[in-house]
Amino acid sequence: MDINMLIGASFEAGTETEETVLNPRTGETILAMPEANSDQIDRAVSAARKAFASWSRTTPSERSAKLLAIADAVEANLEELARLEALNCGKPINEVRNEEIPAVADCFRYFAGAVRNMHGPVSGEYLEGHTSMIRRDAIGVVASIAPWNYPVMMMAWKLAPALAGGNTVVMKPSEQTPLTALKMAQILSGVLPEGVVNVIVGQGGSVGNALIHHPGIDMVSITGDIATGKKVLTAAANSVKRTHLELGGKAPVIVYDDADLARVVDGLRAFGYYNAGQDCTAACRIYAGAGIYDRLVADLSAAAASIVFDNADDTQNEIPPLISRRQRDRVASFVQRAAEQKHMEVVTGGDLHDGSGFYYRPTVIAGALQKDEIVQREVFGPVVSVTRFTEDDDVISWANDSQYGLASSVWTTDIGRALDASARLQYGCTWVNTHFMLTNEMPHGGLKQSGYGKDMSMYALEDYTAVRHVMIAH
Ligand code: NAD
Repeated sequence: MDINMLIGASFEAGTETEETVLNPRTGETILAMPEANSDQIDRAVSAARKAFASWSRTTPSERSAKLLAIADAVEANLEELARLEALNCGKPINEVRNEEIPAVADCFRYFAGAVRNMHGPVSGEYLEGHTSMIRRDAIGVVASIAPWNYPVMMMAWKLAPALAGGNTVVMKPSEQTPLTALKMAQILSGVLPEGVVNVIVGQGGSVGNALIHHPGIDMVSITGDIATGKKVLTAAANSVKRTHLELGGKAPVIVYDDADLARVVDGLRAFGYYNAGQDCTAACRIYAGAGIYDRLVADLSAAAASIVFDNADDTQNEIPPLISRRQRDRVASFVQRAAEQKHMEVVTGGDLHDGSGFYYRPTVIAGALQKDEIVQREVFGPVVSVTRFTEDDDVISWANDSQYGLASSVWTTDIGRALDASARLQYGCTWVNTHFMLTNEMPHGGLKQSGYGKDMSMYALEDYTAVRHVMIAH
């Protein structure tokens, strides 16, 4: 298996501290991956700077052709990418093969089309004797830093709009999940000119830290924890780099009494536990009206208990284990602290799975109150809390009472109520009678401490380009 990074045109292994890359389904070591040294980091940034001069001057149609070629190459390598992602993340193979990798190819195709269709304000004579026009140009070298929950998809979300906009990139995957990024490096080097994308590996505190402080980096795009985002902002302040931050979530799910219960339960079974809840949009914080609460808790608990996750035949599995022992222990400690409080009940789950691997049972915690830790903090695991509300409670205020602002959903058969709630929720996305559905044409990104900057859609292309004014005196 490959441990070589892509620096300019050269494939080379790191030489510094080795990271043990694990198979979360078994806990076994896949390989040890040495991280990049400081010379390799500098050379990756230099290669990107050198490539920027010509890549940023290519036409949208030329860049579009390259993005389409990347999409084709991703599809041609679908089985290998799916195998590596499933191995490194423990994801069910069918989920990666049928959902994530096709979405990655579609992301490159979307931006191939989008960059040829950018619109802007009209040019004109705003001062007599002068014509003004607006341009959108590339920003420069982007450091793209990804988390471990969707390694190859986050890579696509970051690379496609950056490349479409004419930028060059130094990409760093999570130290825990570098395998598909290195496979993508091989694919990309077969399509793109030297230096346009560079992929280096290593820990956040060393390689990531070097990138965010690097004078040769113009913009940092990071998906990760709030604390990491703050470090990026602090570093960016020193050299006034642009930042694009996606920093987690704690999605409220408001279920009114008139909601279609079967539909809610189906939705929460899927969207509360997808990827074992290691998803910043996971439907994890349920507010249920008093008239539907008891039936929802009972039916959701039965549904959660039926989720298949430990079948020896992986094609049968619906969710993965947690990414690491540390993450599993963190999830278990949240549930343990909730269980110690008398007003809450762990209705299903709440325990580790026997045997190897970092599994945790899909869990429903009923009786949670707004102030409880399980309602306030991001668990990032297969754990859903349910809080009862009555007509007298301002459930929208509860939903908005969070440091996060990424995603939310409202479940009701009353369209007026759905629209009113959608208008009042302070979240980057509100779904009505569904949750988690994404499409490359629509933006994904947060408010508040979930960060700012949009992935996917024309808005991402705007984020990765700079508005410029050109004025001509007649
Ligand atoms: P993390 O913040 O620990 O790491 C994310 C990336 O940042 C990794 O590549 C890591 O190496 C790097 N990093 C860590 N410290 C750094 C530093 N000091 N300087 C530079 N880079 C550094 O997050 P994680 O544990 O990998 O991922 C889980 C978190 O990501 C969760 O909080 C989750 O909500 C969030 N997330 C958010 C979104 C979103 O779209 N908003 C999507 C996925 C994950």
